[in-house]
Amino acid sequence: MTTPGIKPLVAGNWKMNGTISGLEELRTIGHAFTSGLESAADCLICPPATLISRAAEILANTSVKVGGQDCHAKDHGAHTGDISASMLKEAGATYVIVGHSERRTDHNEDDSTVRSKAEAALSMGLVAVICIGETLAEREHGETLDVLSRQIDGSVPANSTSQTVVIAYEPVWAIGTGLTPTAGNVAEAHAHIRERLQNKLFDTAKGMRILYGGSVKPGNAKELMFIGNVDGALVGGASLKAADFLGIAEAYRLD
Ligand code: PEP
Repeated sequence: MTTPGIKPLVAGNWKMNGTISGLEELRTIGHAFTSGLESAADCLICPPATLISRAAEILANTSVKVGGQDCHAKDHGAHTGDISASMLKEAGATYVIVGHSERRTDHNEDDSTVRSKAEAALSMGLVAVICIGETLAEREHGETLDVLSRQIDGSVPANSTSQTVVIAYEPVWAIGTGLTPTAGNVAEAHAHIRERLQNKLFDTAKGMRILYGGSVKPGNAKELMFIGNVDGALVGGASLKAADFLGIAEAYRLD
């Protein structure tokens, strides 16, 4: 079950997908989250940086938040192609994903880089969604929990609170593959993450959201979302179509 006292968060990561015409999907999502769904779960959409300000305008009168997919650790300077936390904020973002496995792999980001980015986000008042997760090889070698411990220790800022940081557990091998861990594996990973956060951050970790991400679809959302310590979902492919994304969020509607 979702941790008592924590409102679930259903977050969409559009990755390098989406154009102005695709923003129509946001109107549907915004409407659903002003017509009852907002009491079941919080909602976040992270479109490409080019669409953040338009997305923020479309969702202005809804409970749906807009986030970036990455930020630089510095506020400004000679970093061609990068975007800072203050720029995201000015564009209308209130969240930013950091440490996604695609960034860790494609851009060689290590834990200390991810932590610096998260610190930059926090200093700007953005909520940092910090992604962690093991590769298939690490799982097969029985290293999953050690990897998660190392990533938490290295990537999560010491001043993180349940209000400023969200953790997303995303097994790398489950992202975009249609594969998902067993319910037992998810439960074990999330319980371990909660315990490690508690060791690091003490009481504030009790209320910190720990999302599951990796091939979440409407068809498996209920099973995955009601595992202990799973406080919502980070959704990639299925966040691009409002019907799929809302199908996942609907898992939280209990009436
Ligand atoms: C992601 O990229 O964060 C993700 C979970 O992707 P997908 O849902 O497509 O597996």
